[in-house]
Amino acid sequence: MVRSKRIALFIEDDIVANRLAVQILQPAGYQVERLSAEAELQARFQIDLPNALIIDESLAPKVVRALFKDFPLLPIIFYTGDASSEAIIQRYQEGFQAVLTAQDDQVQALLAINRAVQRQEDWQRWLEFEQKRHTQSLEKRVEDLERLHRIGGKISASLNLDQVLTEVVTAAVELTNAEEGNLMLLDEESGNLVLRAAHSVEEQRTNILRVPIYDTLLGEVIRTQKAVTLGGGELTKIQTAFLVRALVYVPLIMGEQAIGVLGIYNREREQTFSEYHQMLLEALADYAAIAIQNAHYYTANERERQKLHTILTNVRDGVLVLDEEQRILLINAACLQAFGLQEQDYSGWPIEQVISNQDLILMLKQSPSQWIKGGEIRLEDGRIWNCQLTPIENVGLAVTMHDITHLKELDRIKSEFVSTVSHDLRSPLTAILGYTELIGRVGPLNERQQEFVKRVQASVQGITTLISDLLDLGRIEAGLDARKELIDIRPLLRQSLDSFANFLSEKEQQLVVEIAPSTPQVWGNPVRLQQMIANLVSNAIKYTPKGGKLGVRARLEDGQLILQVWDTGVGIPVAEQPYIFEKFYRASNLPEDVSGTGLGLTIVKSIVEDHQGRIWVESTPGQGTTFTIVLPAAAMEQPPNPQA
Ligand code: ADP
Repeated sequence: MVRSKRIALFIEDDIVANRLAVQILQPAGYQVERLSAEAELQARFQIDLPNALIIDESLAPKVVRALFKDFPLLPIIFYTGDASSEAIIQRYQEGFQAVLTAQDDQVQALLAINRAVQRQEDWQRWLEFEQKRHTQSLEKRVEDLERLHRIGGKISASLNLDQVLTEVVTAAVELTNAEEGNLMLLDEESGNLVLRAAHSVEEQRTNILRVPIYDTLLGEVIRTQKAVTLGGGELTKIQTAFLVRALVYVPLIMGEQAIGVLGIYNREREQTFSEYHQMLLEALADYAAIAIQNAHYYTANERERQKLHTILTNVRDGVLVLDEEQRILLINAACLQAFGLQEQDYSGWPIEQVISNQDLILMLKQSPSQWIKGGEIRLEDGRIWNCQLTPIENVGLAVTMHDITHLKELDRIKSEFVSTVSHDLRSPLTAILGYTELIGRVGPLNERQQEFVKRVQASVQGITTLISDLLDLGRIEAGLDARKELIDIRPLLRQSLDSFANFLSEKEQQLVVEIAPSTPQVWGNPVRLQQMIANLVSNAIKYTPKGGKLGVRARLEDGQLILQVWDTGVGIPVAEQPYIFEKFYRASNLPEDVSGTGLGLTIVKSIVEDHQGRIWVESTPGQGTTFTIVLPAAAMEQPPNPQA
């Protein structure tokens, strides 16, 4: 059913209103609604707009103006009793669609009303049409943007540059409805633009493959880094034998430079390109530039990765990288060869399933804080490798292994040499010492001669000490004192300390001895342990001034023997503390008259390590020094290294 048209009346005079409704509007098929409350008009029309409104002077001009403003599509017809032409013209000027007067006959009145209603319907239709047109163009733009967005996503996910560039050109052609499109990149060597991707609606079209940038439109785009739009239907010659009716060129910019041009063409169609098309193309060109940059990064990255891989695989040192669960991430050729492994991909294998070398496996099982020290491992073929363990955050652990077999051999030869030479030097020195003692007996010496003899004796004594230190060190390092027995530390300590009574009273020093009854037994070599204590106590006496205090403490703690030798002497400069256990190292703050070889602490450390113990020093220059030794207590039946 067709809804009948509706006319609203705001007429004060009932007779007039009735005449309009009954005689004119209703017979013509209009539905009539009478309104009387000014205040309700707006609200009423918001819900349901009539096809026209007929009013008379009773409706306030203010309300009428508001209706004109708020309902521009509503024809408002004025009814007046005053039929003078001035009055009628004035109403038209005020904006009324039609003016009815009391003099109009029915036909005239109906005609005017019908015209107004017809106008309103025309406007309405036009409006709907425009609305649709706008919606369509908006929808197209949304679609275009979605397509752009999709391409953007593809670009970040794809590393296939050719595919991405072809995609960009295809999108350029399809989004702009062009006949052809292409993407040319600058070849830096030749200075030409070279075709990288093309798309054409007609497959047989051939694209230009190479264009010089000198004196061409494309070159212009590269130089100015600005887009160019041409068009107007005329055929324009862009290059030799390349005629187009319309085109858009946009530059591909990477960093500060134009590296190429994205172009679309119409060669037959007369359709030109708009600013909107240029904008789409610019967005696509940006995508293409990003893809090219990504590809550059990827290639550079890949090259670096390959280089690193080649270096790691081919270095002579062993390289092993493990993840946090100690599964293999990388194992290089040197490593495979050293552990007698076949060449294959071990990635992801737990290390223990691949490598059976127990030295290495034990090292990896240590707590990460122990890794820093690294260590040595013995390979099956007898070679010795030094291992450095480096924890790497978010990766795991890198193990680098360096062959030190030759160094070990050198060290052995050197120790042997030192030991032989020392041994051979000892006999002539004993003879020299003997004869210096005899000199005085064969005839009287004057005072200066006696002084000289004393100096010779002191020097020979010094050399003899040095030689016996070297010999001792050689023996300990060579593992010649490996035999261990169960030793009661307390009597051993007392014995050692008793032998220093003379030195202590000479320097008027006080010795504080604190040996706890709990002090445990240890497995050890009694001669070496005594030497260890003697070296530390004699240092404490030597490096503590006359009248000073020193002491020895021994106790059991956590199943270990803790032994401390402390003094109130000169101390050791902090920066030098790491070096004092090295051979021949003597600190820079030595008192002038204190002689020594710089081997005492090296010997102590070797003895401690030979007994599976640890030693460290704490010292404050000018206040004193404490050496602490920790040895495993002898809780077991067997010594710690039973094979010895
Ligand atoms: P030295 O024969 O010189 O005493 P050591 O190997 O026994 O050689 O000691 C190395 C160096 O460590 C000493 O020269 C000295 O500088 C320092 N040192 C050792 N013990 C002490 C100590 N108790 N007080 C101060 N310095 C010490």
